[in-house]
Amino acid sequence: MNINTYLMSKVYIKQILEEARLDSEVVVRGWVRTKRQSKNVTFININDGTTIHNIQAVVEADAVSEDILARIHTGACLEVYGKLIASMGNQKVEVQVSKIVVLGEADPEKYPIQPKKHSFEFLREKAHLRPRTNTFGAIFRIRHALAFAIHKYFNDHGFFYLHTPIITGSDAEGAGEMFRVTTLDPVHPPKTEDGKVDYTQDFFGKETNLTVSGQLEGELGAMALSKIYTFGPTFRAENSNTSRHLAEFWMIEPEVAFNDLQDNMDLAEDFLQYLVKYALDNCADDLQFLDARFAEEEKQKPTQERSELGLLDKLKFVVENNFERLTYTAAVDILKNAKKKFQYPVDWGTDLQSEHERYLVEKHFKKPVILTDYPAHIKAFYMKQSEDGKTVRAMDVLFPGIGEIIGGSQREDDYEKLKNRALEVGIPEESIWWYLETRQFGSCPHAGFGLGFERLVLFVTGMGNIRDVIPFPRTPKNAEF
Ligand code: ATP
Ligand code: MN
Repeated sequence: MNINTYLMSKVYIKQILEEARLDSEVVVRGWVRTKRQSKNVTFININDGTTIHNIQAVVEADAVSEDILARIHTGACLEVYGKLIASMGNQKVEVQVSKIVVLGEADPEKYPIQPKKHSFEFLREKAHLRPRTNTFGAIFRIRHALAFAIHKYFNDHGFFYLHTPIITGSDAEGAGEMFRVTTLDPVHPPKTEDGKVDYTQDFFGKETNLTVSGQLEGELGAMALSKIYTFGPTFRAENSNTSRHLAEFWMIEPEVAFNDLQDNMDLAEDFLQYLVKYALDNCADDLQFLDARFAEEEKQKPTQERSELGLLDKLKFVVENNFERLTYTAAVDILKNAKKKFQYPVDWGTDLQSEHERYLVEKHFKKPVILTDYPAHIKAFYMKQSEDGKTVRAMDVLFPGIGEIIGGSQREDDYEKLKNRALEVGIPEESIWWYLETRQFGSCPHAGFGLGFERLVLFVTGMGNIRDVIPFPRTPKNAEF
């Protein structure tokens, strides 16, 4: 491209700053971050979200009318015409302005996002505007990059993207946590003779819910296409108001025919390392910004609670070191011998709490951990039963600062064992007959896992609350925007 072609098509700030083509004419469009006025010159910092960096527009006296300048405040949207000149500031170039069109004003008395530090709690209430801050711009660009990397990884490794249903008629993970989907009149629903709601008259002729996982249908795909993955929204009505749970989140679920638990762990580790490395390689500017933010945040904490590594160091560490692999039983021994006093007691057979998981990862091993072979009774019915009669071929991947980031297993492929286990935990055969049937027709060993997308984004961005890594979070009592 030669010099003055910027005017031929729309150009965005990322490209302008990267190419730094001195003397070319440009039109910059974006939102005002700051405006600084001195006697003879006005500096306007503009950002269009394509990069964390702002471009500086320099307005010399008389270049633009006083009327126009007076309409420009933080948050306004501008179209700025001018020439790229060398800059003394943070960037190589800045715009010497010849004309400004105010596309949209922002009343400084009312616009809530001012150039100062706002709390994340405050910004959650302004979720419609928070993408215009440095932090949220960086987070959502990284979120995009990770989503893209997920598809790239699987495509490069011969997986097929399978779209599993969002509305389901099965409740494989346990009742009480699902959102009902219905078109029945909420005030006067049709009733059966014994006074219950008559779902045969509902839209699907049966009770339906939003899915809590695409796994069961994913398995059907793997037992035909060998390697599949799902990547879609997932819904859980659990009333857990924590910094790691959303009512609506995105989950990635690969499922692979002929894989056993070892293969499953290898896939999970390779996949996570690939994704973190992808972010390091492709989101350097945003990660650098978040690294500084993270360091600032850590400084506010008491010394013993501070992270030993900075954000970038933590990401590099995960890419460069193998995950520790051990059984649930071995982990329970470590926890029972730990000097630390836990809020919840640990004994073989109890489910591990987040404090236990984080102790193993952050204090004991100081690296990501994969725990395997959990007691059968604390895990789902579809996990492969081991010969010891007590454990199943489950695996959880635990990450620093997060706890569980992946949950998965080798699946039970024996028809009788699977059917009996489903009955034991109270899942009616007629609700999953199609799932059971795959174990009667060409059953095979297979394994898979679920990665919570927002937990991955939490880890990579170093943010502390899962509400801050999804554009519009859904949590108990909160579905604004
Ligand atoms: P947890 O014990 O942390 O509640 P889980 O064992 O219920 O998680 P799984 O059913 O194993 O979760 O789901 C697979 C992955 O999905 C988890 O490892 C986690 O990364 C993510 N995940 C589960 N529940 C949520 C949620 N409510 N919000 C965000 N991510 C979640
Ligand atoms: Mn789990």
